[in-house]
Amino acid sequence: MRFNVFCKENSIDQCDKIIKTLVEQGNIFTNDNPEYIISIGGDGTMLRAVRKYYDVIDHVYFIGINTGELGFYTDFLPNEADQIIHSVTCSPNYNHCPLLEYEMVYKNGSVVRNFALNEITILNSFRTQILEVTINDNPFEVFRGTGLLVSTPSGSTAYNKSLGGAVVDISIEAFQMTEVASINNRVYQTLGSPILLGKESILKLSSPNFNQATLTTDYMFDHLDDVESIKVWLSDKKIKLLTKCNHTFWHRVKRAFLGK
Ligand code: NAP
Ligand code: MN
Repeated sequence: MRFNVFCKENSIDQCDKIIKTLVEQGNIFTNDNPEYIISIGGDGTMLRAVRKYYDVIDHVYFIGINTGELGFYTDFLPNEADQIIHSVTCSPNYNHCPLLEYEMVYKNGSVVRNFALNEITILNSFRTQILEVTINDNPFEVFRGTGLLVSTPSGSTAYNKSLGGAVVDISIEAFQMTEVASINNRVYQTLGSPILLGKESILKLSSPNFNQATLTTDYMFDHLDDVESIKVWLSDKKIKLLTKCNHTFWHRVKRAFLGK
């Protein structure tokens, strides 16, 4: 196989060893149209690797090697190079993880598009954040509280899970919106439970005032002061993630949260 690696900063020595082993087994280490991108580190490393290779996401397969972190996305250990080769040839052995896409509309009319592998959040720790929630152009609710999180199926086990959101099988083409500390009383009401939206749904979050609110996209963050609204939907793009032979999404969930 033709491969390149994306290494966590402090894992360079481990990366060199893995490259050496794979090359000794007859694989080609290359910058030039690699077919496999091997992320060596934890989930944070995989999130960064996918961002780096987003432009060629339809043409590459991702492989995660865990160097000692949680590694929900990483199925292999550094000494399992032989299993990688085996898994490349067994079937079915890819998890297809859909991404989220979103569009931020600024007050000056400019539009910025981006994607997330895990989630986006809109959070305001200083003031009550008002968020008008619209689903497919129909006003749904007006949220007041700390914020909202929108996650992919593969991101459902990350921040979403900490907020009591459901763990979603990645074969379900849906995305989830989860509340962060909503104010619910006689005057202000939200649904109060996480919701799953279907593939064709467009979720719009707008606010008269995003003052001091932040937007996070996986591991990155941005200020929302000059933003008017954010539209989110499930992307047609997916990452193809190599798994051990006969490993499913639920093996991943079990390993990450229930032990071996
Ligand atoms: P990090 O602080 O290392 O991430 C926090 C934990 O989330 C780590 O144990 C990480 O695994 C794990 N994780 C990441 N993606 C996951 C997934 N899809 N399923 C299960 N666990 C997952 O920071 P980071 O590595 O840069 O990752 C950024 C992510 O952290 C964000 O996308 C967000 O989901 C998560 N986060 C969670 C909270 C929270 O739960 N309160 C708050 C902020 C951010 P590794 O150890 O393998 O990296
Ligand atoms: Mn991490």
